[in-house]
Amino acid sequence: MAKSNDSNNTGVTTEPAVDYGFDTLAIRTGQLPTDEGSHSEPIFATSSFVFQDAAQAAARFSGSEPGNIYSRFTNPTVEAFEKRLAAMEGGERAVATSSGMAAILSIMMAFLQSGDEVVSSRSIFGTTNVLFDKYLKKFGVETTFVSISAMDQWQAAITDKTKLLFLETPSNPLCEVADIRKLSSLAKQHDLLLVVDNCFCTPALQQPLALGADIIVHSATKYLDGQGRCIGGAVVGSNELMTEVYGFLRSAGPTMSAFNAWVFLKGLETLSLRMQAQSKSALLLAQWLTDQPGVEKVHYAGLPTHPQHALAKQQQSGFGGIVSFELTGGRDAAWKMIDATTFISITANLGDVKTTITHPATTTHGRLSDEDKAASGITEGLVRVAVGLEDISDIKRDLSHGLTTAQ
Ligand SMILES: *Cc1c(COP(=O)(O)O)cnc(C)c1O
Repeated sequence: MAKSNDSNNTGVTTEPAVDYGFDTLAIRTGQLPTDEGSHSEPIFATSSFVFQDAAQAAARFSGSEPGNIYSRFTNPTVEAFEKRLAAMEGGERAVATSSGMAAILSIMMAFLQSGDEVVSSRSIFGTTNVLFDKYLKKFGVETTFVSISAMDQWQAAITDKTKLLFLETPSNPLCEVADIRKLSSLAKQHDLLLVVDNCFCTPALQQPLALGADIIVHSATKYLDGQGRCIGGAVVGSNELMTEVYGFLRSAGPTMSAFNAWVFLKGLETLSLRMQAQSKSALLLAQWLTDQPGVEKVHYAGLPTHPQHALAKQQQSGFGGIVSFELTGGRDAAWKMIDATTFISITANLGDVKTTITHPATTTHGRLSDEDKAASGITEGLVRVAVGLEDISDIKRDLSHGLTTAQ
């Protein structure tokens, strides 16, 4: 990380260096010095930028001179967020987008064409499923869905038209864990791109590029923000791959706003602490739920009973903040439990310091057919809790009202 001025500590840094630790990178990377000496990153709320003269305008547009042009594709606040996130993921470059879905769409538009095929984990964000199954299909791109942890299914689904493998790990809402290293060797063997949605762990707990993934996708809306304020997304990878994604962004415009980039920059500064604290509370909650009446099964990779507990321990430095569990009483019990909470927010969002609760079968995964729900393990009694930063004793107490009511 180079100081903006070697002889004078301005408290502002720009380029990351490999020898800085994760937390330093999260707090210091990407900030540009300003003439005002602002300590917090400024928000460049401007759609366009002026040039000194016509020649400079021409040079900027031709690419012979780097610099700002127009905020659809160059904005210093957005760039600061991109630099910081890339440093945290250990990637060469990040491209920020208007949402997590825009990030996924941008990857698909950049690397696929009609006739290509995608192999995807079945356990992905519901809307990602719709994007693949309905919209990519319209343009001649077919997706085959496989079980996230069944290597034989991944292998069998690959054809000579396959271009890309897509997954989320840990998965939503069942916390299934994919072996990124094994999938990376499979991808390399067939010359495919391995894309990992790193929303649930964030770089604070898991760095998929180091495990062999080619591209990381983020919904910045979740933990990167951390306080439920803004919608945004990002794609991270090598300079070569990101040039293609950036090309799509420049042409199609699913751009992150400067204000949102600023909120996410602030979110990144506390990401590591939040992820550690939320993981700690989630583990305590998962252990507690295991012993509660009416709870049939608890899904959390931090529990030694989880089928991929050992793998999760190996490729993640924490188990994350999402716990889901199945109630014996089906939908009736699940809804009663959700309705009996007093402060836990009933919302489909996650990754907030406020604890949230949702019934996946009728909300986030409501658009799946009954068959797909069954194949993905989304039962009627399943409840998902995204653990926040309130006192764990209060979270347990609020859930216990519901558990008693659900009996
Ligand atoms: C929310 C989410 C998305 C989509 O992100 P948006 O910012 O809502 O567009 C993608 N993947 C996962 C895992 C998510 O949780």
